[in-house]
Amino acid sequence: MTITEMLIPVNEYSRPAKSLKNISGIVLHWVANPKSSALANRNFFETKQYGQHGYGSAHYVVDMSGSIIQCIPDKEMAYHCGSKSYTEYAYKKYGSYPNNCTIGIELCHPDWEGSFTDETFTAAVELSAELCRKYMLNPYADITTHRNIVGWKSCPKWFGSHPEDFQLFQLEVADIL
Ligand SMILES: [Zn+2]
Repeated sequence: MTITEMLIPVNEYSRPAKSLKNISGIVLHWVANPKSSALANRNFFETKQYGQHGYGSAHYVVDMSGSIIQCIPDKEMAYHCGSKSYTEYAYKKYGSYPNNCTIGIELCHPDWEGSFTDETFTAAVELSAELCRKYMLNPYADITTHRNIVGWKSCPKWFGSHPEDFQLFQLEVADIL
């Protein structure tokens, strides 16, 4: 696993430089832009600083090649799972604003079906395992999807249509720990 730190500049729309209250979970996403690279997604977060593309960012982006870019320091807030409302599960576990206490990981993918390359899957498993170890998180209880947080968004799409692959993800993280 190779993580390249390429932090985006502090700005209102994608890196507000607020401290997380704590780190109580990892939220997985798909980038919803087939074939786009981790670097392109990271750069898109950076362009949000001008305010023309709304709010949005994530701590990490995992490329189709398996390389990882860190965009935001772990202990700062990213705007990856904000919503007008959240699932009951999310309210209970993460409170009224889950961005406050979660790390967001974006996963690149080759097509609109949203399946991941083996490289992306493996790198994201390894990254999640490292974060679980660092912040004492449980791979089953504390790794979740954007969809589980907000209820209405199909993100990552593949884990919505293939829940068994999300379970496999958690299992592989647990295997490393
Ligand atoms: Zn998402």
